[in-house]
Amino acid sequence: MSIKTRAAILEAPGRIVLGERTLELKEDEVLVKTHLSGVCGSDKTIYRGDIPEKISLPFYIGHEGGGTVVEVGSRVREYRVGDRVMAFNWCNTFADYFKVPVGGLQPVPEGMDMDLASLGEPIACAMYAGMHSGIQLGDTAVVYGMGFAGQIIAQVLKRKGAGKVIGIDVVDGKLELARKLGTDAAINAKREDPVAMVKDLTHGRGVDVVVEAAGTEKAINEGSAMLKQNGIYVFYSWVTTPVTLNIGRWHDDGFEIRTTTLVHHTNEERYVWTPRVLRPVLEGMVDIKPLLSGEFPLSQIKQAFELADRDPSAIKVVVRP
Ligand SMILES: [Zn+2]
Repeated sequence: MSIKTRAAILEAPGRIVLGERTLELKEDEVLVKTHLSGVCGSDKTIYRGDIPEKISLPFYIGHEGGGTVVEVGSRVREYRVGDRVMAFNWCNTFADYFKVPVGGLQPVPEGMDMDLASLGEPIACAMYAGMHSGIQLGDTAVVYGMGFAGQIIAQVLKRKGAGKVIGIDVVDGKLELARKLGTDAAINAKREDPVAMVKDLTHGRGVDVVVEAAGTEKAINEGSAMLKQNGIYVFYSWVTTPVTLNIGRWHDDGFEIRTTTLVHHTNEERYVWTPRVLRPVLEGMVDIKPLLSGEFPLSQIKQAFELADRDPSAIKVVVRP
């Protein structure tokens, strides 16, 4: 089985084009008709030319997406034609069709809106991080980085009983949205000293939980400076370049360090956890639709990336074939 599809290709940093591609289905692969796909922070990073070792150009870009199975390889038993699925793998989701090895997919939970399910990977990862942050009733927490993940994590921390959630970012638009969605305090780290302000808000003690979702050296270090003794430091970001970390307090003050990005857990673990962490989304407990900040047809993939790159308050740009 083979099929022709339009597909987004990153030819060089800042240069993305829509090409054509023939997908040949292997025996363990599943062919999916794309419903919607999202521009991830990591797509932006690659687009800007910060390219991780495992990726080479030209690159068939895109990994957040969902759709309907149109064909399965001869050895695939897990999915059938017509099943609704979400991608958890680099598989060029900015295309009419994408193909994935069976282990890189996840079934869409019954009753889930297909637009949201197409963002199942980033939503599930952020939900997992919030749900595994160790937050306790009445705790004070910081979410450093109010992008798509940070906005979801902050809401989860509130629903799980955080007394106060403080959002930190360098973009006012993101902080405003966070306040609208229930974050108690917002700090712009460009204008203010976030460590001093958090200390102030916690009477010098520091917060119980810090979730680092910005991925910069400054964010990681400041996050660790505002955590209380024996606090929980939750890592979420993808850090693509070496950073210098000030980790003295990690030892001296007995931090508990957790990494919580579900997509980097084993496929088996991810398979079990995804439906569980998406349940609150299905229950309407977390507001995600306000995070979608621009939709483009696939023919305008270039414009979609330009907006994501240029507008710092664009949280999740989506592309529909
Ligand atoms: Zn992603």
